[in-house]
Amino acid sequence: MSKIWKTGLYIHVPWCRRRCPYCDFFFEVGETSSNYVDALCLELEHRIQEHRIQSFDTIYFGGGTPSLLPTIDLKRLFKQSELNPKLSEESVIEANPEDLSERWICDIRDLGFHRISVGVQSFDDALLKKLGRLHRGQDAFNKLQRLKKYTGIGIDLIIGTPIETTKRLRNDLDHILRLMPQTVSLYMLTIEEETHFDKLVQLGKMPPTNDIKQLDDYHQAVSTLKEAGYIQTEVSNFRRPDYQTAHNEIYWAGGQYLGLGPGAHSLLISNESGLRAHQKADIQAYLKEPTSPLIVDETLDSQSLFDDFLAFGLRNLEHGVDIISLEQITGAQVRQTQIQVLERYVDSGHLTRFDNNIRVTPLGIDILDRIQGDLLFD
Ligand code: SF4
Repeated sequence: MSKIWKTGLYIHVPWCRRRCPYCDFFFEVGETSSNYVDALCLELEHRIQEHRIQSFDTIYFGGGTPSLLPTIDLKRLFKQSELNPKLSEESVIEANPEDLSERWICDIRDLGFHRISVGVQSFDDALLKKLGRLHRGQDAFNKLQRLKKYTGIGIDLIIGTPIETTKRLRNDLDHILRLMPQTVSLYMLTIEEETHFDKLVQLGKMPPTNDIKQLDDYHQAVSTLKEAGYIQTEVSNFRRPDYQTAHNEIYWAGGQYLGLGPGAHSLLISNESGLRAHQKADIQAYLKEPTSPLIVDETLDSQSLFDDFLAFGLRNLEHGVDIISLEQITGAQVRQTQIQVLERYVDSGHLTRFDNNIRVTPLGIDILDRIQGDLLFD
């Protein structure tokens, strides 16, 4: 393998103020632990040595609710670990609107994050209440207007809920276009097992999601954002033309990432192979022993790395996959069956090909899972 892999750092903050009725992520309800930053620093140092990581190109704080972590702890983390959000290619922290206090905004600005990704979900108070969110639409809008003076912002929007109307979606999109955030992420609601929404659906107290309506909502949101000048980088992600995203590119475009914290997943690549692994989803165990061995999900030889990056790289709608560079960085070769699958979908208009670069067309987005499956298993 001739190329040095880009490396992303993901830091999980596994606490939330309360459980949203649709969420099945790993977190606990309550305050963050003051020992957590020390545990993260220990784990970081250990994994850097264990996997000979030179540096991180991007830093991403996800959750849970990272904005629950006191900024004094964040400062301590950066000081102890010598990580610097200002110097990375992209540094992002997720936040909930109710945490965007004047003080928090100033601290985050001083730390030098490039983007605050805010879980707004909707600007409509009635929908927010049903989604169990703690903020109000106008308040979130005002705070985002203030925040964008200091740093890049991203907005997460939930779409395709069975309790949402077309008028509400239009209203949410109008608010987004008034704010023109650097990035927009659309989250299609899925009713996950064992969530409160799942129970309501089972009891007949809430309608299930409707595939056709969800697709309509998705297409409406995509065309509104594109008409406003946004570039669709992934199936659900958009960026302004004057802002470059880097962290997610690593997931899809051939790179490794280290996930820190309980429940966090990693893909670590050495010259010989790749390793998909995760930390046990147990906060107390993590605080006691943050450097415990990762749980291995899968080891990947160079052909498996190639296959994964080919299939999942198609999620990068903006740049697609360059077959020759992928062969060079993995040391593997495209398989004959994969060439046949690619040709079949190019002929049907679901993929396009320019020289060695393969991209998904708008028609192909709706069947991307099937294309990926065929590339992996045909
Ligand atoms: S704030 Fe986010 S992570 Fe926490 S429960 Fe709600 S949706 Fe899940």
